[in-house]
Amino acid sequence: MTTRFAFEKLAQDGKARLGRITTPRGDIRTPAFMPVGTAATVKAMMPESVAQTGADILLGNTYHLMLRPTAERIDRLGGLHTFMNWSKPILTDSGGFQVMSLAGLRKLTEDGVRFKSHIDGSEHMLSPERSMEIQRLLGSDIVMCFDECPALPADRARIEESMRLSMRWAARSREAFGDRPGYALFGIQQGGLEEDLRGESAAALREIGFEGYAIGGLAVGEGQEAMFGCLDFAPDQLPEDKPRYLMGVGKPDDIVGAVKRGVDMMDCVLPSRSGRTGQAFTRHGVVNIKNARHADDPRPLDENCTCPACRNYSRAYLHHVFRSQEMISGMLLTWHNLQYFQDIMAGMRDAIGNGAFAAWEADFHAGRAEGDIPPL
Ligand SMILES: [Zn+2]
Repeated sequence: MTTRFAFEKLAQDGKARLGRITTPRGDIRTPAFMPVGTAATVKAMMPESVAQTGADILLGNTYHLMLRPTAERIDRLGGLHTFMNWSKPILTDSGGFQVMSLAGLRKLTEDGVRFKSHIDGSEHMLSPERSMEIQRLLGSDIVMCFDECPALPADRARIEESMRLSMRWAARSREAFGDRPGYALFGIQQGGLEEDLRGESAAALREIGFEGYAIGGLAVGEGQEAMFGCLDFAPDQLPEDKPRYLMGVGKPDDIVGAVKRGVDMMDCVLPSRSGRTGQAFTRHGVVNIKNARHADDPRPLDENCTCPACRNYSRAYLHHVFRSQEMISGMLLTWHNLQYFQDIMAGMRDAIGNGAFAAWEADFHAGRAEGDIPPL
């Protein structure tokens, strides 16, 4: 068993990269999709079921966990892996993004962010130092720098000011993280959609030095075309020999487009959240299981999918339990969606390894363009 954190690029096809991250808690095959376990659970899923879909790593949210049950309590109970019964790697975000989107009465200063909990209104402070402490108490394998980013569109002066603050916080995060063999600290590139600001941010991060680099500040309302425009240059500004993580992305076609542009890791709540609202992602696009067309349909959601929702249940049953608001509805559709996302990742890894990414991508888009199977 390895005791250190490392990244190895195994193959490249165009800009798409096949790789492997090794950690003391196991390997992460890249490109990797990380399901989101916000409150120490991927909602509606047992952790062993999440692993069965092919996930090598989960994401946990610092903001939620620090408020409830608190990082100190999780530490006393043996750390997040033990607490939630997930033995593979865990990445935690820094809390910065969610403070800005969820908390009330925020006050941003050079030191950090003071805010009120959205749960009970209690006052808290997050700074680079406190975020590093919380993520260490959680036992996170991949720790993210504490940063700040404006929602897009924002004017250039605001993006520039915010990026420079985040780079000062990145240096403080590195200092506070210290020397922890086997654990990784990722820097986060900011700079909106501006190529020169992204370049300045990347240079600042490289100067500090990190085990991996994230692309932050995207998927915040700019749209896919603008995001891909930025991804045409942003990954290239980051070190070639370290993993690149695009935060908070995305829909299946966003993920494929990001991998094509040189991204190695992604996370999104979409497969689990959509599963709870009756939306299933399939090779033929999105299926809304609540639609009446499924009420008498004995066929599976996707006949080629290996998940329990598709192997053991009909569209008619999935439709019925959704309409009846039975818990198994969210469980089955979440499992299916997570399986579909992991199948996409596995498909891309195979294709990159075989130098066939372009053909795989054409097939992916053709399947989606066909649309769902016709009603009976
Ligand atoms: Zn399925």
